[in-house]
Amino acid sequence: MPDTAAATVRESFKSVKIPSGGLHAAMARRLLTRLRDVMAGSGSAQSRLDKIVTLIAAETGADVCSCYVMRAGEVLELFATRGLNQSAVHKTRLRVGEGLVGDIAAHARPVALANAQSHPNFAYRPETGEDPFQSLMGVPIMRGSRVRGVLVIQHKERRAYAEEEVETLQNIAMVVAELVAAGELASSQEILLSGDPVLLPSRLSGISLNPGLAIGRAVLHRPLPTIRQTVADNPALELQRFLAAIESLHSAINDLLAITANANGESRDIIETYKMFAADRGWLNRIREAIESGLTAEAAVQRVQNETRARMSQLTDAYLRERLLDFEDLTNRLLQHLAGKDTAAESGTLPDDIVLVARSLGPAELLDYDRRRLRALILEEGSPASHVAIIARALDIPVVAQCADLLTLVDPLDPIIVDGDSGQVLVRPGDDAQAAYTQSMALKSERKKLYAGLRDLPAVTADGVAVSLHLNCGMSIDLPYLESTGAKGIGLYRTEIPFMVRSTYPDVAAQVELYKRVLDVAAGRPVNFRTLDIGADKSLPYFAAEPQENPALGWRAIRMGLDRPAMLRQQLRAMLMAAEGRELRVMFPMVSEVAELMSLGHFLDLEIARLHRKGYDVDRAAVKVGVMVEVPSLLWQLPELLARVDFISIGSNDLLQYLFACDRGDARMTGRFDSLSPPMLRVLRDLVRAADKAKIPLSVCGEMAGKPLEAMALLGLGVRNLSMAPSAIGAVKTMLRSLDLAGFSAYLEEAMEGHPHSLRPILNAFARDHGVVL
Ligand code: PEP
Ligand code: MG
Repeated sequence: MPDTAAATVRESFKSVKIPSGGLHAAMARRLLTRLRDVMAGSGSAQSRLDKIVTLIAAETGADVCSCYVMRAGEVLELFATRGLNQSAVHKTRLRVGEGLVGDIAAHARPVALANAQSHPNFAYRPETGEDPFQSLMGVPIMRGSRVRGVLVIQHKERRAYAEEEVETLQNIAMVVAELVAAGELASSQEILLSGDPVLLPSRLSGISLNPGLAIGRAVLHRPLPTIRQTVADNPALELQRFLAAIESLHSAINDLLAITANANGESRDIIETYKMFAADRGWLNRIREAIESGLTAEAAVQRVQNETRARMSQLTDAYLRERLLDFEDLTNRLLQHLAGKDTAAESGTLPDDIVLVARSLGPAELLDYDRRRLRALILEEGSPASHVAIIARALDIPVVAQCADLLTLVDPLDPIIVDGDSGQVLVRPGDDAQAAYTQSMALKSERKKLYAGLRDLPAVTADGVAVSLHLNCGMSIDLPYLESTGAKGIGLYRTEIPFMVRSTYPDVAAQVELYKRVLDVAAGRPVNFRTLDIGADKSLPYFAAEPQENPALGWRAIRMGLDRPAMLRQQLRAMLMAAEGRELRVMFPMVSEVAELMSLGHFLDLEIARLHRKGYDVDRAAVKVGVMVEVPSLLWQLPELLARVDFISIGSNDLLQYLFACDRGDARMTGRFDSLSPPMLRVLRDLVRAADKAKIPLSVCGEMAGKPLEAMALLGLGVRNLSMAPSAIGAVKTMLRSLDLAGFSAYLEEAMEGHPHSLRPILNAFARDHGVVL
């Protein structure tokens, strides 16, 4: 089908000539230009605000123009007025929600009333002397998604305000917002503005994806670009810029549609909806009118966004409210097209203590940020087994997910405390909270020191059973943890992570260097190199795979490798070359049948033969082959599988996902099925028994291994080799050193015969009663 949307947009603007909006638009433009001159003029911020209200009253013919500014405690204070008593300035205050002014702020929407005083929400304030003024029109002054104040005009006579007049006042408010949000008014009147720590604190509850405490400043992932100019120098040019941005937005959406052409599912629906919104005439016309009135294209887009947000947030229908987020996203994209660049992760402008705030985030996007500055991650969505959570764990930063309304409550650079232990987030915390958390952080670092002290103590249970603790890693910053934690080796090296952080595919030489470095640092300790596990939510920026309906069940990991042997063989070649005669442990992810393992082994043999031909000295006996057990079909091929491998490692994250048909990345599935449920534990027990019988070493490298309670259960099932994020080693070691394993194993065996949803409560009780430190 030909694309008609962009043509429709062009068509609808064909008739537009500047000045085209007639007398009204011309007047509005003149007023904005004058306002801009006042704003840019000399004098204090207060004196400029005084001039502004005078100018607005004169130009609009109103008897009154007043500006209320938001102060701490959600109080609106009269900051300047033309027409009301001057003595009321800085005295009259209304709470948000109180009176008509408070109502405008509470709902972020305009009010226009011919007879304001008879309105039920009218709050009489005698000191202002507003008795003679019958009609009132007010609009919110907004920056980003937050109301910063209210701009009001009043007339003596009863008059109905035209829609155009409301829009003009909204345009004016966009310009006034610049002054109010600039922070200059703050010094004289101690008002609280953008990023000011004393704006009302908010506490958000979510779920913890990684424990830990952090204090830092908010950085919004893909924030609304900052508007540098609100009043246009050349409206005709602004309109042209807007048209060009709309066109490029449309062609970007069409590109997205082309990519999803074969997908019938949700992703295509979403993009179709996007396309529909992007061609919405009402939306486009409102922006165009705002530009004709003298705003820059960016200011016009955001002005209309404020309005849409206010209107849509009144809706109770959950589906329609969701659409509000689509509009937010679309606005964001349009602003990025206007800016002609991608605004994500511009590191030069970011603070040193980043608390990253996002709706959802891919693992590669998290790695775009400078990890030395990253303190914590907060998500509106997100779930525990998602890969971004795994990366965050590797970075050892607290993560709280599923925080409702996060993006509407947080402004850039807001101070934030993230409590990853309890899943709480404090936005703009008060001094007391800051002090309390600083103290907790000190205690935590004490605990870390304690863990560090355990480094040289053996990982042996209270009754003398030795356990091997290994690391999961994938980034070079992880490697020093081998020394600092005293881990026995790397149980899972996720090779896709170095691939994900690069902008181009690493060739064989680059890969050799990478793997060589890992083996060098490991200095003889075993390293399980897992071959690329891409697909599902782990995509490579330079590898455009077709979107799939069901990516977790689709073309991922070795399934890609077997279909694209060149990629797989290059990786195996690089590993073999990096080993330089040392032991090489290759581990294949997502194996579903023994036949796949045979094909993988065949490719490995081909590479060994190739290197022999080229004169390399590769010792076949030093190459160990392992398989991740994470697809349940393998459970019925265990004897054949175990006869062909040197080791196995249980990927409990995927195993749980496939066992229960439960998407590990779906927030609504969090807690639905538990890894400590009898079916999962029985599967693990059977695996341990089969591996013991075949005398094949078994480890667990899924997230279960790094959580003290889950690790206790694994030990009870007979697992003796655990691989986990470096930050988990201390807590797991503390747990096992306090555990009498024989007693617990017997207890667990019996408990597993029951059929509760989960054994978690009784295992916790066991630990409590038997002094196991969790
Ligand atoms: C797993 O599935 O448990 C695992 C360790 O692999 P990943 O989380 O990388 O899929
Ligand atoms: Mg896996």
